[in-house]
Amino acid sequence: MEAGRHLVVVVAHPDDETFSCGSAIAAASAGGSTVTVLCATRGEAGERRPHAATDHLPLAEVREAELRDAAETLGVSAVELLGYADSDFAGPMPDGALCSVPLPELTAVLTERFAELAPDMVLTLDGSDGHRDHLHVRAATEAALAAGDQPVLLRLSCLANSLMRRWVDEMRATGSGTAYLDLDVSTLGTPDELLTAHDVGHVLEVREAAIACHRSQRSPFEDLSPGLRREFLATDHVIDTVLGGTG
Ligand SMILES: [Zn+2]
Repeated sequence: MEAGRHLVVVVAHPDDETFSCGSAIAAASAGGSTVTVLCATRGEAGERRPHAATDHLPLAEVREAELRDAAETLGVSAVELLGYADSDFAGPMPDGALCSVPLPELTAVLTERFAELAPDMVLTLDGSDGHRDHLHVRAATEAALAAGDQPVLLRLSCLANSLMRRWVDEMRATGSGTAYLDLDVSTLGTPDELLTAHDVGHVLEVREAAIACHRSQRSPFEDLSPGLRREFLATDHVIDTVLGGTG
């Protein structure tokens, strides 16, 4: 992104901004763009890793603080919490859960935020990991941008199928869980031929520092070999589309 532009990142949970698209944020900020993160929930349905300093605090509070630390590390200018409850990956949802909000209602909230923030580019997750909150955020983001007066570049942050296959190979080889044995690897992530790769190795240290801010969460890169970890973190795989401006 060119200097002086505004990147708005829309995510469902604290850590999505870092684990999924931290390099894109750090690179935009390092390049002179302003970055705003809209985070729909405080991630209270996430699995908690014990930590003596914060175990007495509600997970939502811990994760919001981690989000703010990581965002500052990545060079984010502003973080806005949209105030929904974490729907969790599956199962019954709590009151106020993000996925219980009808799509038009969530779209209207984002439409209002985009009108005020006037982003040059909006970044969200493609949701190919199957988390229902990620998919709901993506759908509302696309709908809000598609209905906008001005054309805006939407960038989807994706996981390349080729890297996901290698991730499964490593997990199987190290015996980190039999859960991986039954996976159909052809369906993981997004097919490589749909993706554009961006080298973001120049902000790898910043990304690693942001990952370390999310102490209550186990990062998906934790058990990877150093080589594969670097491939996940030093290259962004994205799909770009211009939405809106047709009305
Ligand atoms: Zn998430």
